[in-house]
Amino acid sequence: MARFDSDYVPASAMAIYAHPDDIEFTVAGTVAKWADAGCEVTFVLITSGDVGTHDAKYTRKSLARVREREEREAARILGAKRVVFLRKGDCELESTMALRKELVRQIRKYRPEVVLCGDPQSLFFGNQYINHPDHIVAGKTALEAVFPGAEMELLWPRLGKAHKVHAVYISSTLRPDTWIDIGKTIGRKIASLRAHESQLGSRDIAPMIYSWAMGEGRTAPPQSKAGKGRARRPKYTESFRIMRLLKDEPGDDE
Ligand SMILES: [Zn+2]
Repeated sequence: MARFDSDYVPASAMAIYAHPDDIEFTVAGTVAKWADAGCEVTFVLITSGDVGTHDAKYTRKSLARVREREEREAARILGAKRVVFLRKGDCELESTMALRKELVRQIRKYRPEVVLCGDPQSLFFGNQYINHPDHIVAGKTALEAVFPGAEMELLWPRLGKAHKVHAVYISSTLRPDTWIDIGKTIGRKIASLRAHESQLGSRDIAPMIYSWAMGEGRTAPPQSKAGKGRARRPKYTESFRIMRLLKDEPGDDE
């Protein structure tokens, strides 16, 4: 398999997102698939989603506690190895140098081959959803932390040894170029979303997730495994724009 094609499994991956449930809505099928194949997966949540409710029974503190517990359960379902919470204020994220440094610290510590994050260029989805400003900040700052932050040896040596991320898988993008077949893990994606009870209550999320995953697949070009067999279009996919930061070397394709 070629590096970073739709069947590629990295040795390690770090998903950097703003809120508990962002990973589950966007990239859960992919990370579960990778974790099943032996990839070491780290989740980094910049906030703990501490204002994400209209229910008066919560305070910011009690909601953060509940949502961190829900996120840990979702991570367990998906097979992630660890969850890191940075505990910034929900709905208050700003793309600061301080936040960039915190993300560099996480990247240098866990040294992921691949980083997953949202597309900071996505502002409108259709005509009913304005992207959450925290999502835009999280995506933008994650990219800044990957390049040039984490890889420059002379920059912030106290944050750990420099590390070059090989590729960034950018989700929630209006310009996808790679579609990952999540047919075998879409059930766990739904189960991981059900772990976010404070957000979804008893609402049945499954029809929406199946419909999204089919919609993404509809724009995918047909794929064939290693050039064998009839090309087919996967039924359920998650789509990405991939930035390949490490150049392929000759002989890497096997
Ligand atoms: Zn969110």
